[in-house]
Amino acid sequence: MSPLPTARLLIVDDDPNNIRLLASIFDQDYDILFALNGVEAIDISLRERPDLIILDVMMPDLDGYTVCKTIKNHPHTKDIPIVFLTAHCDVEEEIRGLEMGAADFISKPFYPKIVKIRVSNQIELKYAREKLTKLAITDGLTGIANRRYFDDQLAHEWTRARRLNQTLAIAMIDVDWFKKYNDHYGHQGGDDCLRQVANVLSNVAKRDSDFVARYGGEEFAIILPMTQAENALELSKNICLALSNLELPHALSDFGHVTLSVGVAVGCPKQNTTPHNLLINADKALYTAKEKGRNRAVLFVET
Ligand code: GH3
Ligand code: MG
Ligand code: MG
Repeated sequence: MSPLPTARLLIVDDDPNNIRLLASIFDQDYDILFALNGVEAIDISLRERPDLIILDVMMPDLDGYTVCKTIKNHPHTKDIPIVFLTAHCDVEEEIRGLEMGAADFISKPFYPKIVKIRVSNQIELKYAREKLTKLAITDGLTGIANRRYFDDQLAHEWTRARRLNQTLAIAMIDVDWFKKYNDHYGHQGGDDCLRQVANVLSNVAKRDSDFVARYGGEEFAIILPMTQAENALELSKNICLALSNLELPHALSDFGHVTLSVGVAVGCPKQNTTPHNLLINADKALYTAKEKGRNRAVLFVET
């Protein structure tokens, strides 16, 4: 296992002596960044995304509370734990800091060893939170997004498309004759095959905005924001082709190798409609693709 990268601490204090003192406590264990005022602190937080910020309260211009509020309100920095370190040992001040979202509040004079332990605890918690978040949205078998993440993302993209009056396409992808594949190659073989499929999907749908997920079992789904019908169909055909070209042997398929069927649906979200219709339509198109002989992409057309 590769060792974890060294965590990075941002120390914010208007007094360089304090920064020096704190750096000497932490520089054995962490990479140290520092800022001498609030504006610099916010700037470095956004740019460097440190793992934790040690923040002085009293500073000229922007005080620590304002810095904390700004960092907690920005989507890119809100998860960085902030530990206030201050000469105040006033309960009201401490409450204010913690209510603002600070992870901890330490008053001077402090014991270096205690500060070290508290900081290390907060960094461990941050890593644990990140790991949990990742687990909650990832499909364990293939490493791509799971169904939960897909549902959230679809709702999000739907709202966005409605706001911007744009089209949104989705593709539902299903492995052909996969039950027979499992029967013949075993469940492990089936799992390997699903990983290869996930790989192909990620490689073909490679725009930043494309979103590939495992929908369940041997079904996958792709969200294609700002995509017109003909382009979504073209991409879906490329997916079928790319997988077919891998020629993964499938002894019990008429094609002799693993193939995919894809159903595509495109919508322009209007008020009072839900992404549910789009999914149903893509599923209908997928059904048609199966009926027509599999190994193909079909676009849903309203009849
Ligand atoms: P069709 O061409 O009509 O899609 O037929 P199919 O056999 O692919 O469809 P069916 O829905 O009958 O079978 C799906 C199979 O996928 C059955 C199930 O055991 C298998 N499967 C679902 N999830 C997994 C998985 O995580 N790993 C493996 N190895 N197999 C899975
Ligand atoms: Mg299926
Ligand atoms: Mg299938």
